[in-house]
Amino acid sequence: MAIIASNFKTNHTRKSTKEFICNVNEYLKKNEISTEVIVFPTSTSLDNFDTIPSFFIGAQNAYATQRGSFTGEIGTEQLDEFAIKTILIGHSERRHILGETQEQVAQKFNFYKELGYKIIYCIGEPLEVKEEGLNSTLEYIYEQFIGIDTDYENLILAYEPVWAIGTGVTATNEDIVNIHNAIKEKISKPLLYGGSVKVNNVREICSLNNVDGALIGTASWNQEDFIKIIENTK
Ligand code: 13P
Repeated sequence: MAIIASNFKTNHTRKSTKEFICNVNEYLKKNEISTEVIVFPTSTSLDNFDTIPSFFIGAQNAYATQRGSFTGEIGTEQLDEFAIKTILIGHSERRHILGETQEQVAQKFNFYKELGYKIIYCIGEPLEVKEEGLNSTLEYIYEQFIGIDTDYENLILAYEPVWAIGTGVTATNEDIVNIHNAIKEKISKPLLYGGSVKVNNVREICSLNNVDGALIGTASWNQEDFIKIIENTK
């Protein structure tokens, strides 16, 4: 069974999120789809649906706290209000744009692990590391597991090469298989690929060895396209 996740990043309003979630929910109810679907809307839309969706709604980020003085962040007090129990941790935009260190990422991971959250944990190398070759790439990725309990039962991994995110440049099948095989050899958890996954390449990517699904940004923001993506991987 494939896992298909949409990361809205900083896109969609409450109105358009509601429409998206309701339509995807309708589609999943009408069709017998075994695919596990997860949607990460913005934190302003985590409560934004009439009926509880038949799929997972997750937070793109939250601080490792119940509550406190962490300006601009939300904690579990807010997530609990929306019954959110799924979280994305270690996304490259948080690591590279917002400067989250591995120590902070691991702290967040452990906090949410203790609370039993489903964690989608992202790893992936920047272009300069990829250009150094496979060994350097794997070394870089393994460092992103420092402080992370890879035996955690509610863990899904997502390999998202930084150079493929939002660029339209998808990793080659060979790149994906090399990295996925190496990660799976060490860690036996569902492993998604992310980075310029599109309606017309998702089926092929998801059929590769050791690819258990996809984490998608740009191509998933249009609800018709997201439904096609689910359709293509069922
Ligand atoms: P794109 O699909 O836009 O490359 O984004 C991937 C991603 O970052 C999903 O988390």
